[in-house]
Amino acid sequence: MISKDRLQKRIELLAQIGKTEIGGVSRIALTKEYKEGLDLVTNWMEEAGMTVRLDEAGNLIGRKEGTNPELKAIALGSHIDSVDNGGKYDGVIGVLGGIEVVQHLKEESITNKRSLEVIAFCEEEGSRFQSGGVFGSRAMVGNLLKKDLEVTDDKGNSRYEVLKDFGLDPDNISNAIRNKEEFDLYLEMHIEQGPILIREDIPVGIVTGITGLSLTEVTFHGEANHVGGTPMDLRYDALLGASETALAVEEIVNEYGGNAVGTAATMEVIPSQVNIIPGRVSTVIDIRDTDYERREAILKKLEAKVKEISTRRNLGYQLKSKLKANPALSAQHILDTMKKKSKELGISTFEMPSGGGHDAQLMAEITDMAMVFVRSENGSHNPDEYAKPEDIKSGTDLLMETALYYVNR
Ligand SMILES: [Zn+2]
Repeated sequence: MISKDRLQKRIELLAQIGKTEIGGVSRIALTKEYKEGLDLVTNWMEEAGMTVRLDEAGNLIGRKEGTNPELKAIALGSHIDSVDNGGKYDGVIGVLGGIEVVQHLKEESITNKRSLEVIAFCEEEGSRFQSGGVFGSRAMVGNLLKKDLEVTDDKGNSRYEVLKDFGLDPDNISNAIRNKEEFDLYLEMHIEQGPILIREDIPVGIVTGITGLSLTEVTFHGEANHVGGTPMDLRYDALLGASETALAVEEIVNEYGGNAVGTAATMEVIPSQVNIIPGRVSTVIDIRDTDYERREAILKKLEAKVKEISTRRNLGYQLKSKLKANPALSAQHILDTMKKKSKELGISTFEMPSGGGHDAQLMAEITDMAMVFVRSENGSHNPDEYAKPEDIKSGTDLLMETALYYVNR
């Protein structure tokens, strides 16, 4: 069986690496702490009977060969990098839970026809290069752009240099690409990054799909002028345009409903001084939805609204798409299997979309995928995130039974 104690012990041991003063974890991708974390995870993968390698993008891959090499592999995984001062569980439980599944097979002498892989994807969080994250999984599905190697961290080192210093070979990063013929499916366990499972009082979530994300920068150009000397009818206040846009985001997203969420996440005001009417204001609008068509419709409506605001207020405007990640739906057959297995295990589950992005979203481009969520107190990306050992055990049991169903099929 899954060993709750071993899993818990490993979570605590990994949390020691990069431990911060306030009890959080800073294990930023491709740092010394990250290397230390990878070494520890490598030991555990080997203990579970896997051969381990690091690909050119820094993804750690453990593999237990199947008895039938003709069959596509089953992959389990997540990430062990963290945000600055993050928690112990985000990403970690998916990797360590995956190792636990493989170790169970070894200990119970269960043979696997299909090969099993456990993958710790590199730099899921994207907190080092502020470039949207999911770097390792993007590399694996062949989705990197040239600029992904050129981006720099806060010390001015490019990702290319950082990968090189880490002992990798970024010139041959395309070697990390895997194809559709290699994987039968990908399963990822992760803590829920919101309060829904807590609210429902249910330990485990079955993720129906991962939300698509779009970041759009809206900039209004007005006229910076004296606040005392400029009458109300002769003002071109860029902040008022941006403020109306922020309110419009809420209104439009509520109008469409469903799983859509929208946020005016930043506001840059230039100049930002008393005595001066803001002349230029940029706001980055974050729209997420599991439904591609609906997200596009929301973006279109928002664009029309920005245009209307700028005309009415006599402001210039610019729209710039900064990032677009498409939504990914979980494979229905895996969801059906998960529902059946959770019933057999006596674990109550709740079907829900994922509002956060995950490596599974990228893996969906080359294979079927589904995710298991584990209830987490205090959300994620902070030192107080907390998943109960028994909930992690339930999630891992479901992960294991689902993997076992497919592994000899
Ligand atoms: Zn994560």
